[in-house]
Amino acid sequence: MAATAPISAVARTILANARILRAGPSVNWFLLRYMGKFNVLQRGGRLIVHSHLPPLNSKAYSRFIDEHLLAESPGPSHAQIGITDACPQNCGYCYNRGREGVLMDTPTILAVIRELKSMGVFWIGLTGGEPLLNRDIVRIVEEIGEDCSAKLFTTGSNLTQRLAADLKQAGLFYVTVSLDHMEETKHDQIRGRRGAFRTARRALEIFRALGGMHVSVSSVLSGDMLRTERVEEFLAYLQRLEVDEAWLSEAKPSTQACWKLENVITESERQDLIRLQDRWNKKGGLTVNYLGHFEDRRHFGCTAGQKMVFIDPFGEVSPCVFIPMTFGNVREGSLRTIYGGMRSRFPAQDHCFVNTNYMHFRDHDGRKLPFGREESLSILNEVRFGPLPQFFRLQNGRSGTRRRQQDRQQTGDR
Ligand code: SF4
Repeated sequence: MAATAPISAVARTILANARILRAGPSVNWFLLRYMGKFNVLQRGGRLIVHSHLPPLNSKAYSRFIDEHLLAESPGPSHAQIGITDACPQNCGYCYNRGREGVLMDTPTILAVIRELKSMGVFWIGLTGGEPLLNRDIVRIVEEIGEDCSAKLFTTGSNLTQRLAADLKQAGLFYVTVSLDHMEETKHDQIRGRRGAFRTARRALEIFRALGGMHVSVSSVLSGDMLRTERVEEFLAYLQRLEVDEAWLSEAKPSTQACWKLENVITESERQDLIRLQDRWNKKGGLTVNYLGHFEDRRHFGCTAGQKMVFIDPFGEVSPCVFIPMTFGNVREGSLRTIYGGMRSRFPAQDHCFVNTNYMHFRDHDGRKLPFGREESLSILNEVRFGPLPQFFRLQNGRSGTRRRQQDRQQTGDR
């Protein structure tokens, strides 16, 4: 497990980023309170709040400050790319189910990465299918480069010590291995493959043994694992495995088989997980990062299609991995243009889009997913977006004040 960063290292990093103060007192106070909920860890010379944000002393974090906090870039900050659809496992909740077409080749994936970065993306999740089954994964990681955080989401299949070392050498720092349960048979059952648990455990050992990487476990909580005492048990188990972070999320109603109320987390279960996360992080050691906390209305909310974008293995552009809608294919138009059209229809909002709108999917012909552009637009006509989450309210307030000051200045100048 990574050590807690010394106060002096955190202080030096804060001073090096002092320009963040220009984002205004309310945004800074928000960030301080948000980040204060996590222990800052030190691993391989990097300071980490959690793996959904770049290390505090990285070029990627500087881009977050300069391009998003200060320049208020309208582009996305986070992207996920499906670099293959092949996967030896078969999870019931898989968001890739039904997606099909012609796979993106490596030059297309590299071009997508370059375009995403030019649009402001500073965090890229490599997913699939199983991303390690893409034979060019090392080249893909290299392309992401130092000024953008890469995070690998893997089942561990196909990992060798050599491949892990090559990925590290190429610049990979954040890795997360899927583990949904602490009981071998249960995990294998959820993943639809015998041996999945052992594969995951072995991958964790390989990455940990390499040293200098931030190693987390990604868990999709469903069924009995949504009970607080089960999650507590699971986190204690992960602590014994000495991983750096537990990245928790719940199963989402992304595909036909899951478009049912009983598959959607309740608000009280969600709040229980947020409290549990906060309790664990106060203890120190293992970082607990529940996505429902990041995406809560008091924090960053749902930024699907606004700050988050997903390019699936076939080049379809969706607002988030869990939303089965496409707004175009990267081979048929510029990613910037497709994203621009999508973004104008997806304001940041205070609740998870897919959890609250999956019922609209049922009324449309969802035999083939994702829904095409026209069908997606028609679904959006039935959707009511909620108010802005706290972070964007504060940022908008700041921009509003700045605009009013500029207006007053211009009026005074006349
Ligand atoms: S729809 Fe929004 S809140 Fe839900 S998982 Fe996607 S980005 Fe997160």
